[in-house]
Amino acid sequence: MAETDYYKVLGVERTASDEEIKKAYRKLSRKYHPDIAGPQFEDKFKEVNNAYEVLSDADKRRMYDAGVDPNDPNGGGFASAGFGDVGDIFGQFFGNAFGGSTQGPTPRTQPGRDVLSSASIPLKTAVFGGAVHVKINTFGVCQTCGGAGTADNEKPVTCPDCNGQGSRQQVKNTILGQMMTTSTCQRCEGHGTIIEHPCPTCQGHGRVRTSRDVGITIPAGITDNTRLRLANQGEVGEGGGSAGDLYIDVRVKQDKQFTRDGDDLHCWIQVPMSWAVLGHDLSIDTFDGKQDIIIPQGCQPEETISLEGLGVAKLKHPEERGNLIAHVGVHIPTKLNDDERKLMEQFSQMHDASNDAIQQSGRPTTAHKGFFDKIKDALR
Ligand SMILES: [Zn+2]
Ligand SMILES: [Zn+2]
Repeated sequence: MAETDYYKVLGVERTASDEEIKKAYRKLSRKYHPDIAGPQFEDKFKEVNNAYEVLSDADKRRMYDAGVDPNDPNGGGFASAGFGDVGDIFGQFFGNAFGGSTQGPTPRTQPGRDVLSSASIPLKTAVFGGAVHVKINTFGVCQTCGGAGTADNEKPVTCPDCNGQGSRQQVKNTILGQMMTTSTCQRCEGHGTIIEHPCPTCQGHGRVRTSRDVGITIPAGITDNTRLRLANQGEVGEGGGSAGDLYIDVRVKQDKQFTRDGDDLHCWIQVPMSWAVLGHDLSIDTFDGKQDIIIPQGCQPEETISLEGLGVAKLKHPEERGNLIAHVGVHIPTKLNDDERKLMEQFSQMHDASNDAIQQSGRPTTAHKGFFDKIKDALR
C-alpha cells in the first residue's frame, strides 16, 4: 500500500466528522474512478476506497486511531487474510489490552467478512450485458439454529465464572504493591455467556461453510477488470452476524473474431484481389448476426468499413453503441495456372505498362496507418 495514512489519503483532519469523511470520499472516488480518470488511477482509487473502508466504520476507525491497521495486518490480502482478523484483533485490543471490564463482553454476533471472487465473461456479454453465475464457497447462516448457535432454541446463559463480564479481575501481590490485572474469561472466551448445548450442525458458531450460486447482472459495456460489489452477499459472521459484501472482479475473455477498443469492435477480413479491384457484396459475422457489407470497387488494403451501432454498448448510455470496424485485407494470389497467368499478363500490359504510376515516399501513404498502429499497441 502506497500511502498508509488514511486521513492523508482522504485529505481530512484526524478529528474529521463522519460527514466530512463521507464528503471527502465522494469527491475523491469520483475524481479517481478508473472509468473517468483512466486506468492509470486504479491504484489511487483503491487507496481511497481502502481509507474510506476503515474511516467510515466506527470500530475500524477506533482500531486505526489506536495504531492497528484493520486493512493490513500482514501486508494485504483482501478477504482471505485481511478482513477476517478484524474481529480477533479487535477483541484482543479492546478486550484484553484495555481491560474487558470497561469494554464489556465481546458480542457473540460479529459482522461477516467481505469476499472477493472473480468471473470470466465472453466479449458478447460485455457488449450487450447479461447474467452470469459464480460459485461462492463461504459461510452462510446455519439453517438448523438460524444463527443462534444453540440447540433446541435455547438461549445462552450468563457465564457463572465472570458473571457476564467476559473478563476476570485478579489482585496480585508484587514488589510494587498490589496490582489489579484483567484477563479474558476462559470459560466463556470473553462473551459473558455460555452455550450449554451447542447446535450440532454449527457447533455453536451460528454459521456453516456453504457453496452457493450467486447470479450477477453484468452491465452492458462493462470493461475488463471491473470490480462489482454485491452488498450483503459475502460471508455471514460468527453467531449469524450480518453478511459482508461480495466483490467480483470481472475479466472479459478475448474473442476469436473481434477485438475491442473502447466502445468499438474491430475485425479483419481477407478478400481476393479481384473483389478488391471490381467491388463485391458479402456478409460477415457480427454479434448481431450476419450483416451485409459492400467492398467498394478499387478497395485498398487496410481500408476500413464501418458498421455503425454494431459495437459495444456505452457503459453510461447503454442505448448507444460504438461501431464495428472491418479492416479489409487483400489476398494476392501466389499460384496461377497458365490461363490465369496469361490473363494477368494481358492486364498488366494494358494497365501497368508504363513505370509512371509508381510513387515513392519516405512515409507510409496509407491513410489508416496511424489508426492501425493504435490497434496494434492496444493488443500488445
Ligand atoms: Zn447451528
Ligand atoms: Zn465468563
